[in-house]
Amino acid sequence: MKEYAFSETFYSIQGEGFYTGVPSVWLRFFLCNLQCDGFGQDDPTNPETYQLPYKDFDPIDVKNVTDLPVWEKGCDSSYSWSKKFKHLQKKQTPEEIVETLRREMVNAYNPGGDFNHPVSRASTHLVYTGGESLMKHAQEAAVEINSVYKSKGNHERPWNTTWETNGTQPLTDQFTRTFGNRGLYSGELFFFLVVLSYLLYREKSLRRLYAQMLFPNTMILVRQCAKGQRHQQLLLDS
Ligand code: SF4
Repeated sequence: MKEYAFSETFYSIQGEGFYTGVPSVWLRFFLCNLQCDGFGQDDPTNPETYQLPYKDFDPIDVKNVTDLPVWEKGCDSSYSWSKKFKHLQKKQTPEEIVETLRREMVNAYNPGGDFNHPVSRASTHLVYTGGESLMKHAQEAAVEINSVYKSKGNHERPWNTTWETNGTQPLTDQFTRTFGNRGLYSGELFFFLVVLSYLLYREKSLRRLYAQMLFPNTMILVRQCAKGQRHQQLLLDS
């Protein structure tokens, strides 16, 4: 079975976007189509003044991405796309990735590594990041990972997923068929739900519940980055 390259997996609290504050498990794909060197630079408008410490770093003795320093200038995820860190990438089949993500969630109160926490009943959020999480191979991987999850019990699979993306990649037919609007709602019902949602959205405590009812599975978070910014509209318009 096909293997997909990724830099790391980890379990933490989401710190940005709609699911801020929600326990989440991440899969960081390897590869990005951009190279955003402008972050943290004294003059982001002048590439000639850029300092890029990741370029000077020698990773030859590094065995794991968690042993790398955090670079304050340039892309802080350069280890997930720069060729010099290629030896740190991992390759796994979709089944193995699902198992790796499960293991990330295991702790004393969640010994099975379930997405639905056995004590709090809270649903852990799944995040695809990168690199670029919507490169063609990453979209294919997400589709296959999703089909592995479909064969699992409700407590073992994610109920909400975010792709953290630079917004430049066209979505494949296979991806939109799997994660896109499945046509669950007729026009009238959709209109009714939109109006109802707007009214309820103003009630803060019900926002997340209703957003999840309308859009239960997927969210694409377009991340701000120096070069990606001008491409965002491409994805939003598609
Ligand atoms: S799109 Fe994101 S991961 Fe890619 S280079 Fe830019 S900031 Fe880094």
